[in-house]
Amino acid sequence: MNIRVDVDGAIKTDALIIGAGPVGLFAVFELGLLDIKAHLVDILDKVGGQCAELYPEKPIYDIPGIPYVTGQGLTDALMEQIKPFGPTFHLGEMIESIERIGDPLFRVTTDRGKIFETKIIVIAAGGGSFQPKRPPIQGIEPYENTSVFYAVRRMEQFRDRRLLVVGGGDSALDWTLNLQPIAKRLTLVHRRDDFRAAPDSVNKMRALVASGAIDLRIGQVTALEGADGQLTAAVVKGNDGALTTLECDAMLPFFGLTMKLGPVANWGLNLEENLVTVDTEKFETSEPGIFAVGDINTYPGKIKLILCGFHEVALMSQKAHRYVFPDKRLVFQYTTSSTSLQKKLGVA
Ligand SMILES: Cc1cc2nc3c(=O)[nH]c(=O)nc-3n(C[C@H](O)[C@H](O)[C@H](O)COP(=O)(O)OP(=O)(O)OC[C@H]3O[C@@H](n4cnc5c(N)ncnc54)[C@H](O)[C@@H]3O)c2cc1C
Repeated sequence: MNIRVDVDGAIKTDALIIGAGPVGLFAVFELGLLDIKAHLVDILDKVGGQCAELYPEKPIYDIPGIPYVTGQGLTDALMEQIKPFGPTFHLGEMIESIERIGDPLFRVTTDRGKIFETKIIVIAAGGGSFQPKRPPIQGIEPYENTSVFYAVRRMEQFRDRRLLVVGGGDSALDWTLNLQPIAKRLTLVHRRDDFRAAPDSVNKMRALVASGAIDLRIGQVTALEGADGQLTAAVVKGNDGALTTLECDAMLPFFGLTMKLGPVANWGLNLEENLVTVDTEKFETSEPGIFAVGDINTYPGKIKLILCGFHEVALMSQKAHRYVFPDKRLVFQYTTSSTSLQKKLGVA
């Protein structure tokens, strides 16, 4: 990989993409078709954003033309698709500051002191740095990531284990349904007998309870028992105040995510409820040359779906081309019929 670095150590690039989630990854493709080279930075130590971090093994059914793909499967497919454009990844680093030094030209700095000099910036930072909400249980910290998990990275680690899934939303119900077939025993704990999850998931869960395949406890986990990070039981307080001790090997609380916008808030961009406002023609922010795509942006009618982010990067790239190549006319082409695009993709 040939990385251009200037005298003061700045890495020079056409485009800097902040966030390597599905939308940031597909931005590499759309920019690449227009000869715009990209570097990507992500706080996480892997690519794929929410898909890889929060639900790698869960199915996604609404990617156009792909009836079924898992979060990790989609990430892998996107990585394969952008290979011809040779993006450079800087993982485990957070973009901290952005400074305009030209029209447009930016100096962008990471928390590790890496500096980029880039013509355009594409913010694809999702919800910012996302963190699971910790349940209010005293002494939970020593068990975290050994027997208390806020995300399922590898389902196999829960095979033949006694599991406690806690929560009443989509994640809790989805993981109840997905883990039940491999768990030794699974108990779902929720504070009331009313669930916010998709009705279909709730019906499936209730059918499993009725058939005796899983247990449902109404109440709250108030204490944990175990040693050296290994859970042996959880104490559940029922709504009548009665305490029940449930033996378990692992607990999976799904209390939602706290989206911490993080440094994005300090970049002088117009925000609305912690999201970056953009127009729907170019997905440009209030700062010319800085775009925002995917879950991080907002506009009238915005839906936080991957397919919407894919649409946004296609339109964003058209405007980005005008900044990166102000003297070049952009001719719209199909990948199906354009030999020049096919050459870029390495298929012609
Ligand atoms: C359980 C679950 C199921 C879902 N199912 C579906 C579904 O079926 N279909 C669908 O379309 N959508 C689904 N979604 C939503 C979908 O995952 C999101 O819409 C999508 O991930 C948004 O992609 P993104 O690239 O915009 O952001 P993200 O995937 O959030 O990625 C953003 C990346 O930016 C990084 N980042 C943030 N701030 C910085 C910074 N300052 N510096 C460097 N990096 C930074 C983060 O670490 C992260 O990796 C689901 C979400 C969840 C939680």
